[in-house]
Amino acid sequence: MSGLFGVVSRQNCTKTLFYGTDYHAHLGTEVAGLAVLGDFFRHRIHSIADTQFKSRFAEDMGDMSGNAGIGVISDSNTQPFLVSSRVGDFAIVTSGLVNNKDNLAAEMRSEGQSFSEVARGRINPTELVAKMIASGKSIPDGIRKVFARIEGSVTMLLLTREGIYAARDAHGRSPLVVGSADGAMAVASESCAFTNLGFEVTGYLAPGEVARLTPGEVETVVEGRDECRICAFLWIYTGYPASSYEGISVEAARERCGGRLAERDTVEADLVAGVPDSGTAHAIGYAMHSGLPFRRPLVKYTPGYGRSYTPPSQDVRDLVAKMKLIPVRDVIKGQRIVLCEDSIVRGTQLKNLTMKKLWDNGAAEVHVRPACPPLMFHCPYVLSTRSEEELAARRAIRALEGKDIEDVSAYTEAGSREYAEMVEWIRRDLGATTLAYLELGDMIKAIGLPPEKLCTYCWTGRTSQP
Ligand code: SF4
Repeated sequence: MSGLFGVVSRQNCTKTLFYGTDYHAHLGTEVAGLAVLGDFFRHRIHSIADTQFKSRFAEDMGDMSGNAGIGVISDSNTQPFLVSSRVGDFAIVTSGLVNNKDNLAAEMRSEGQSFSEVARGRINPTELVAKMIASGKSIPDGIRKVFARIEGSVTMLLLTREGIYAARDAHGRSPLVVGSADGAMAVASESCAFTNLGFEVTGYLAPGEVARLTPGEVETVVEGRDECRICAFLWIYTGYPASSYEGISVEAARERCGGRLAERDTVEADLVAGVPDSGTAHAIGYAMHSGLPFRRPLVKYTPGYGRSYTPPSQDVRDLVAKMKLIPVRDVIKGQRIVLCEDSIVRGTQLKNLTMKKLWDNGAAEVHVRPACPPLMFHCPYVLSTRSEEELAARRAIRALEGKDIEDVSAYTEAGSREYAEMVEWIRRDLGATTLAYLELGDMIKAIGLPPEKLCTYCWTGRTSQP
């Protein structure tokens, strides 16, 4: 994943760029970059695998000044990419996945193009997109070409001498929000980047829309489409609680998810808790609806652990995850606990860390309530591919069927015998007293957009709603 931020102003905007980009730190742990345009383009790219964005880029701020800039925090490729081309000079940052990048690169190579960045044998997708744009008749034409050719999704910001071009992916899987403040315009993946920087949200780009931002103005240069498939998982897990997409608050949607879980529940319990941090708002919603007290049997110890810190090996990562979550024995002992979780991906951390800590500290019962249906398919649009085989639901199906099966549709239907058996297998594997997932229809209602506007592929395997 990646988070994007751009700002254009009549004054030096590097401070805004620095903090605006930093508000996307939850979307990437590997690499970050900034580009500014003053008399000429300047850019910096650093690894953030072992330190936070703020400390890594702090000393760059002194020699980066300009009235316009773009930034990115990413889990994948190095960017921004700088290009000098017939459509003009530009710097570009992208987010998304280009699933057919090898085919597109092969085609472009056969036409005489070459690529400068081939890290670990892989083409840099930002460079690929930059070259496709550069082969257009103009920047908007080049972006149109990208949207027409790529499989997956790409959202991007281009820094040019004519302003910042912001383009939201053709199906609107990821959001782009525009804001203004005192003649400056900004664009971001996360609207939470605006509030403390004094920007007011002025609008959300439509799917496929290309807008050009100049100081005090935003102009649509390619009209967007009505058809939208924004990622539903933003509201469940990946989005930041203080953000809104399509005008819908993440925190409020999570509270509604928790409320829907409570509405369906018949379990008797003493308290409700969330797995920190992303389960917290779901648990608050459950508590508000059920009347059960919201309490914290597990508290996250964040001092000393930068949120961007990604230890090099799985062993160390597991150790850090274990050390971060501290059980509060006085809250746990003898209690019947409803434990809200955003989702269950592999279920290994939930089982080996969270549940174990609750049981080891004397919990009487633990009722697990994920705020979405079982994840069944890897995301081909915005997330780095996670192996489908590792998903808890797939492991359950493999165990129940004795092999991997192609057609898992019966297991995606809440209410089917297969679904009940799969959930029971996962419950036993986790060691939970009970396990009940939020159903798809309830999740969609909690988000509050019409179902046909949401992508729910990772739960259903369908590219459109029935
Ligand atoms: S597949 Fe899932 S994670 Fe990917 S865009 Fe769709 S809803 Fe979001």
